[in-house]
Amino acid sequence: NRLPDLLKSDSPLISIEIFPPKTEKGDELLYETLDTLSKFEPKFISCTYGAGGTTQTRTLELCQHIQKTYEIPATAHFTCVGSSRDELIAWLDKAAAAGIQNIMALRGDAPKGETSFKAVEGGLSYANELVSLIRERHPNMGIGVAAYPEKHAECLDADLDLANLKRKIDAGADAAFTQLFFDNDLFFAFRDRYEKAGCAIPLIPGIMPITEFSRIKRITEMCGTAFPAELSARLENVQDDSEAQLEIGIEFAIAQCQELLENNVPGVHFYALNKSQACQRILEALKTA
Ligand code: FAD
Repeated sequence: NRLPDLLKSDSPLISIEIFPPKTEKGDELLYETLDTLSKFEPKFISCTYGAGGTTQTRTLELCQHIQKTYEIPATAHFTCVGSSRDELIAWLDKAAAAGIQNIMALRGDAPKGETSFKAVEGGLSYANELVSLIRERHPNMGIGVAAYPEKHAECLDADLDLANLKRKIDAGADAAFTQLFFDNDLFFAFRDRYEKAGCAIPLIPGIMPITEFSRIKRITEMCGTAFPAELSARLENVQDDSEAQLEIGIEFAIAQCQELLENNVPGVHFYALNKSQACQRILEALKTA
């Protein structure tokens, strides 16, 4: 159930990402989503680690729920934000004791109101340090890391950002999962540079099906993701029709995933946003393609 083993399979590594909800209603929606999407037998379901409060403390609980209820391996996201090395170690030990075999190792973002990320005293500054720490403390843990086809927003230079990704790989990561993107050509160009730079671990595209135009606009602006003009125009035409937006989003994501899979990506990681409808339709379409 560790990432390296999951990647050995002949079929693509399809994975689903969820986040810990903050309300009871959110919980209900998440459990329904998990019931629906688990039927597609994703290779793993990952749960994000939030910026504070229950969005952090529930990550391991939800991962355990996923493993126990669906017998699907869970991947716990984990960040360096706000924790000293000792606290990071304590959490990693807790994750291992809870039966978690895979960690998505991230730096995380600066807390709200702060402009740049600063490590806490005795904490870590970059994700590559977290990967090293996990390898040191739990050598058998599967480790995923983040990759940015359109460059991480804070980094001024794309080659430097790629060199920083390579640090995470050299520290022992097993697979890299990309930030969401909509333009496959940008991903393919990045993959060429990634391979030329000597990055040898599987690079898995991250896809976020569009379900709501206003929400996706906000998200893409935040992470610096290019939004194809034609897609934007189509969505703008149906600004007041949420059903039509969902349909356009699903149709676009199916075509995007099909093209990626035809071009030998090792899998697709879906940012499901705790909703099932879009992912369900996309996974059905990919199954029959
Ligand atoms: P890093 O790899 O450390 O990179 C951060 C920045 O520092 C980059 O600009 C990089 O170029 C630079 N850099 C890296 N290493 C070095 C170095 N050694 N020296 C100098 N510069 C360096 N956020 C959450 O809070 N919770 C989540 O659960 C979560 N899940 C995610 C899952 C995926 C698949 C992705 C793509 C992102 C996720 N994020 C999550 C967002 C992520 O935390 C942010 O994008 C964050 O700003 C960067 O994290 P990172 O792990 O990529 O950092």
